Amino acid sequence: MAKEIPYKIYLEENEIPDKWYNVRADMKNKPAPLLNPGTHEPMTADELEAVFCKELVKQELNDTDAYIEIPQEIRDFYKMYRPSPLVRAYCLEKALDTPAHIYYKFEGNNTSGSHKLNSAIAQAYYAKQQGLKGVTTETGAGQWGTALSMACSYFDLDCQVYMVKVSYEQKPFRREVMRTYGAKVTPSPSMDTEVGRRINAEFPGTTGSLGCAISEAVEAATSQEGYRYVLGSVLSQVLLHQTIIGLETKTALEKYDIVPDMIIGCAGGGSNLGGLISPFAGELIRGEKNYEIIAVEPMSCPSLTRGSYVYDFCDTGKVCPLAKMYTLGSGYIPAPNHAGGLRYHGMSSIVSQLYDDGYIKARSVKQTEVFDAAQRFARVEGILPAPESSHAIKVAVDEALKCKETGEEKNIVFGLTGTGYFDMVAYQKFNDGIMDDYCPTDEEIAASLSNCPKI
Ligand SMILES: *Cc1c(COP(=O)(O)O)cnc(C)c1O
Repeated sequence: MAKEIPYKIYLEENEIPDKWYNVRADMKNKPAPLLNPGTHEPMTADELEAVFCKELVKQELNDTDAYIEIPQEIRDFYKMYRPSPLVRAYCLEKALDTPAHIYYKFEGNNTSGSHKLNSAIAQAYYAKQQGLKGVTTETGAGQWGTALSMACSYFDLDCQVYMVKVSYEQKPFRREVMRTYGAKVTPSPSMDTEVGRRINAEFPGTTGSLGCAISEAVEAATSQEGYRYVLGSVLSQVLLHQTIIGLETKTALEKYDIVPDMIIGCAGGGSNLGGLISPFAGELIRGEKNYEIIAVEPMSCPSLTRGSYVYDFCDTGKVCPLAKMYTLGSGYIPAPNHAGGLRYHGMSSIVSQLYDDGYIKARSVKQTEVFDAAQRFARVEGILPAPESSHAIKVAVDEALKCKETGEEKNIVFGLTGTGYFDMVAYQKFNDGIMDDYCPTDEEIAASLSNCPKI
């Protein structure tokens, strides 16, 4: 007889994975290597180690080991907020009157409010192991900076965050969470770095951009003894750390003999999606199982659905290595969508390759429809979702409603990456009916893509 499925499927502490899963080991077509922006040759470990921590460079370049041991200190930290629950959305199913079974993996149950802590703690650990004094990074909306501040304070590392000036001013609460955890938060562009001074002189009064903050953080790391730069998404090492999400999800489903038909995640830089789907994509690649995997992105920043699969700069300042990815061009400025974490012009090279090989599908959705789904979810499931996460909710709801028409009892699993308490200005706009649905024209995208390097 089938076991009755509880509202929350919890794992035991000793069921937290002790290894991350590196899907690149199973991929037949490996993601293309990072290239030196000057020579267009593959980046060597030595070159990367000038900017990134040594052990993280090893992980970045490793496309052969399927499993990578999670150090005990990181597992101890994970125990504070993991395993995260896999929730059966009984209340949402009832509200939708659907025969589908909906499950979501909830990663918002920590102070940073998102999955980003899973990688922040790993990156801080390796920096500490290397004997570094501290790390630098950029943050846009603030989720990554918050997670990294928490991780650095745990390992007693200095944390310097360059926060896009407009967010620094408009999101004072996230800034204060970071400062509470001991981080130094600097509005970007600042007068502390050469690139910041140059941008301030060239564009007086500018409120900054993520690309500019990245350039400042990289300069700060390379100009101070004992510092390295860390990044919260896009890189393969970050996706690797996030596979803790997918591995736990798989174990929880297997406990109750649940086989998912669909797995859905929102895609900004691709780390939570890649982490959630990796173990399932591995089975797909090895020909063992069949799942439908869907990446959801905003219509205003449609890298997978409307971008090109080419080498591009990872930052507007063009200081970082080149990555082959689905991109809209590094100069692409997305309309001020409220899902700050999904406004990146490119996509993880692992997710890009899996998408190009047909293992993943992608869908882009309108902002107002996303908030409509978010509100619906909040009212019945009791969690106020982050705007980013709500992209996945929107497609899960759409699919569940399709099942209502066809009568199919599909198992739908989606990633609920975080909570939206710091996004109330966006919810306010939605509640006031003044939220828009910007969709870029083909000409805009083509113009931006024409600036990709020719390789
Ligand atoms: C940063 C963020 C995302 C998007 O980042 P990915 O690297 O694509 O996972 C999604 N949801 C939340 C809550 C975030 O903070």
